[in-house]
Amino acid sequence: MTEQEYLAQRQAVLAEAELDTRAVRAGQVRSAEGEHAEPIFMTSSYVFASAAEAAARFSGEQAGNVYSRYTNPTVRTFEERIAALEGAEMGVATASGMAAILSTCIALLQSGDHIVCSRSVFGTTTVLLNKYLAKLGISTSFVSLTDEQQWRDAITPQTKMLLLETPSNPLSEIADIRLLADIAHEHDCLLVVDNCFCTPALQLPLALGADIVVHSATKYLDGQGRSVGGAVVGRREHMNEVLGFIRTAGPSMSPFNAWVFLKGLETLRLRMMAHSSNALALATWLQEQAGVQKVHYSGLPDHPQHSLAASQQKAFGGVLSFEVGSDKAAAWRFIDATRLVSITANLGDAKTTIVHPATTTHGRLSDEQRQQAGIKDNLIRVSVGLEDIEDLRKDMQRGLDAL
Ligand SMILES: *Cc1c(COP(=O)(O)O)cnc(C)c1O
Repeated sequence: MTEQEYLAQRQAVLAEAELDTRAVRAGQVRSAEGEHAEPIFMTSSYVFASAAEAAARFSGEQAGNVYSRYTNPTVRTFEERIAALEGAEMGVATASGMAAILSTCIALLQSGDHIVCSRSVFGTTTVLLNKYLAKLGISTSFVSLTDEQQWRDAITPQTKMLLLETPSNPLSEIADIRLLADIAHEHDCLLVVDNCFCTPALQLPLALGADIVVHSATKYLDGQGRSVGGAVVGRREHMNEVLGFIRTAGPSMSPFNAWVFLKGLETLRLRMMAHSSNALALATWLQEQAGVQKVHYSGLPDHPQHSLAASQQKAFGGVLSFEVGSDKAAAWRFIDATRLVSITANLGDAKTTIVHPATTTHGRLSDEQRQQAGIKDNLIRVSVGLEDIEDLRKDMQRGLDAL
């Protein structure tokens, strides 16, 4: 058997493999050294055997690497692996989650186009749309994530894209992906889902009808808070446009970061299930505590969209929020009394993090916008990590005792 035949057979085996197998194996190409783990190709450029080969590579006549803003083997492996996990034809890696969202919009939209976006998206996404895309003549209307009629009413003949995150941060609201995909397609729009909070281990938006998935790899894909990166996956026709923009404008992923994310993906499902079970245990416990007014977590049976979450997700994820006492002072007392968890806005880390959204992640919103978004002054968000649940409960008890 030639090496090529072996590789083709291996590729066919992987194409049919389950998610855990793809997470560990997809996209790997061994070099002549025979390394078992994926190597990091820390090189900005590549050499050619001759002037003629250089010319053929530059013209695209011959496939192969030219320069790492265009292609890099480690980045390519990450792109193939994340695409394989999301069930996509093609993936493109980006320098950050924001670069993934920007590149998707710039590559697929033009001046005069309109976006309908959930009001409950990552704060910087809102700024990107309102301040920078607006400058280029791409306008955005914001709607309630969960109100079907608002989505329908906001669509105009200029609308080309619907954009959302589900579950939302920090209130754990759930969008019906299949329903919104149908609405998008009725109007010839693309549905773009930011799958950062669930990851493909828990939710597959493309299988539910979405056209494109964007990621901040910085969160759960890494899972250990080491690198900033992002990804866009979807159909080849769209991804080639996104890739063209990345290659030209330059928000490419570094090979080192791609390697960190590859290692993260290998344990993705194990981690997501552990984050989810810790979060569910903590949410259930918090709900029973006297000082806690309300817990927002779609895994709780009394969450208004619990059955929708259960139908489109394999588990409920690691992020929850809850309201304590009656004001900001109570929330700050709670946070300041913890001793184990980290006070930081980052999420999707093995280490549990705690933050006061109203004065940090959502601090740029006006009082009225915050109220509309349901971000109360006494709200606390926790990204539940992989520590022992008993120790996490004890730390939350320290917060409760300080109320
Ligand atoms: C963090 C985050 C982003 C932005 O990702 P970066 O990697 O920080 O650029 C986008 N969407 C969601 C849901 C996020 O949590």
